[in-house]
Amino acid sequence: MVDFTDEQLQRYSRHIILKEVGVEGQISLNQGKVLVVGAGGLGSPVALYLAAAGVGTIGIVDDDVVVLSNLQRQILHATADVGRPKVDSATDTLRALNPEVQVTAHKCRLAADNVMSIVSEYDFVVDGTDNFPAKFLVNDACVLAGIPFSHGGVLRFAGQTMTVLPGESACYRCVFRQPPPEDAVSTCSEAGILGAIAGILGTIQATEVLKYLTGAGRLLTDTLLTFDALAMEFRKIALSRQDECPVCGREPVITSPVDYRGAVCAPVRTKDGPDDGK
Ligand SMILES: [Zn+2]
Repeated sequence: MVDFTDEQLQRYSRHIILKEVGVEGQISLNQGKVLVVGAGGLGSPVALYLAAAGVGTIGIVDDDVVVLSNLQRQILHATADVGRPKVDSATDTLRALNPEVQVTAHKCRLAADNVMSIVSEYDFVVDGTDNFPAKFLVNDACVLAGIPFSHGGVLRFAGQTMTVLPGESACYRCVFRQPPPEDAVSTCSEAGILGAIAGILGTIQATEVLKYLTGAGRLLTDTLLTFDALAMEFRKIALSRQDECPVCGREPVITSPVDYRGAVCAPVRTKDGPDDGK
């Protein structure tokens, strides 16, 4: 039994009381190291819930500054933060919420030449990016490094997420083989997003992190969870690892991270099923 301070016992009492978490689970959370890629619409609720839960080390990767149009959904940042680097604003917000957690700011854009060294410092990675190249980069790096991660994507009124345990469950490339052509998909700024959609999806991703670290329940692996908020319908699509997957298949052709050009929006479900980006 670790010596929690009185303050910690109070702060985490609603976790500790859960039989699926308990003292052991809370210790695991306190010792956890999680990287959140992107301090935007998805990264905001993810990071806030991880900090609130006492996840010991939270890394944030982002190279943007806060702009006014972010604030409709990026709840890590406030009006006074406009113009500040997002990692700085995020760090202040998370420390104010829970001074116990260590926040590591990576003020950069993930790229083929830095992604492996950054992700390898963490136990779990959350993809909160808004573009295909970054999503494939996170997938490939995590698969190559053997680090579990949560994929997430939102657009307009819809979202999708899956959890990947490299070597065990289907990866993002098993489902979406490669990024679509840049001109084939809408950008976030063109397509729009209802702010709270990012909250729904990001909160699901945060839940997966907490489940992974505590061992509670069953992860969202080999499953793509999609939702359409206009109908408020959630759907699970069964997936499986593909032998011909270019990164986690039998004969992988991708053996190091790949940089794709351009920044386009994340894939989301269509009425017929998961969007393949076409
Ligand atoms: Zn795969």
